[in-house]
Amino acid sequence: MSKPKLAIIGAGFSGIFLAQELQEFFEVKIFEKSRGSGGRMSTRYAGNFTFDHGAQYFNAESKDFKKFIDPFIASEDVSCWKGNVISFKNNGADSSRRSEESYFVGSPKMNSLCKKLAGNLDISLNSEVAPISPKKSDGWHLKDKNGNHLGVYDFIISTAPIAQTKNLFSTQITNDWEVEIASMLPSFVTMIGFNHRLSLDWIAGEVEHGPIKLISFNSSKPGRDKNTSCFVIISKESWAKDHLEEEISTVEKILVKNFEDLTGILCDKADYISTHRWRYALSKNSKKIEPFFDKALRLGATGDWVLGSRIEDVWLAAKKLSDLLKTQI
Ligand SMILES: Cc1cc2nc3c(=O)[nH]c(=O)nc-3n(C[C@H](O)[C@H](O)[C@H](O)COP(=O)(O)OP(=O)(O)OC[C@H]3O[C@@H](n4cnc5c(N)ncnc54)[C@H](O)[C@@H]3O)c2cc1C
Repeated sequence: MSKPKLAIIGAGFSGIFLAQELQEFFEVKIFEKSRGSGGRMSTRYAGNFTFDHGAQYFNAESKDFKKFIDPFIASEDVSCWKGNVISFKNNGADSSRRSEESYFVGSPKMNSLCKKLAGNLDISLNSEVAPISPKKSDGWHLKDKNGNHLGVYDFIISTAPIAQTKNLFSTQITNDWEVEIASMLPSFVTMIGFNHRLSLDWIAGEVEHGPIKLISFNSSKPGRDKNTSCFVIISKESWAKDHLEEEISTVEKILVKNFEDLTGILCDKADYISTHRWRYALSKNSKKIEPFFDKALRLGATGDWVLGSRIEDVWLAAKKLSDLLKTQI
């Protein structure tokens, strides 16, 4: 007997994990609008430089998630990132609080975990799925934004950020979901690269005042090129919200100047500087809710709006949805 056909929208961690879990039971196809997989766990390549320009690290507090990542630790696709995390105060003058921390990261890049997990999955890149039209007698007829036919499916799961998922399902789901679109917060990320190695005694710095939330010394993560110095500067979400529509060059100037003031590292001789605007960076939803699944329509959705934006929470939510879907065949 042939397996039911399942279309998954989004090749971030949620989508790839779901596809991997469900491929035994469904004929799975993933559609991703970007040119690569990983979503907010992806890596930016620029000449000699690589930047984890979304998630910086993750923890594994639950037994189940730890069990899930153990094989990836064994295969070295996931490693421990250890070192001093400092707290930047005003102008870097008071950066005295130092604590030895240990986090998990993809290795040699943040997207290594998604890449490994993607294995031989059927992923169609550069495929932006259009809002779905009413279901026909033979199933869901999916189209991309240019009107190209993407196939007919029995089930559709969206892992796009909640605002985009609501838009994708807007013709079908009319009742209000518990989650507000406004609860998705933006962030700016500035990437700075030097073609030489800087010697620093910290791996990351949390910033109390000003526009920056976190400075990550990306090159201190395991498996990264030791001859270059790459920094990832993450803005505070509240600041990003207030500056969301500003020219990216204006935002970049402010973040770079703050980085210089805090760290004392001057960027006029930097070999690479670029800034990315994440319109949907983190979910602000503080309630724990269930992933969405409509049994009659065979439509589902999950993401960081379910349990939280931490990668571990995203995984726990996707696991809930995959367990539910396994009962539907
Ligand atoms: C700047 C930043 C820093 C972060 N830091 C951390 C951290 O340090 N630790 C941590 O645990 N978490 C962090 N996070 C959060 C974490 O990265 C995310 O919660 C997690 O990666 C979400 O995974 P996902 O697969 O659910 O969603 P996503 O990664 O957003 O994947 C959804 C995918 O759907 C695709 N898509 C959207 N619409 C369509 C469409 N119409 N058609 C086809 N494809 C579509 C998108 O391109 C995307 O690839 C951070 C996020 C950001 C942005």
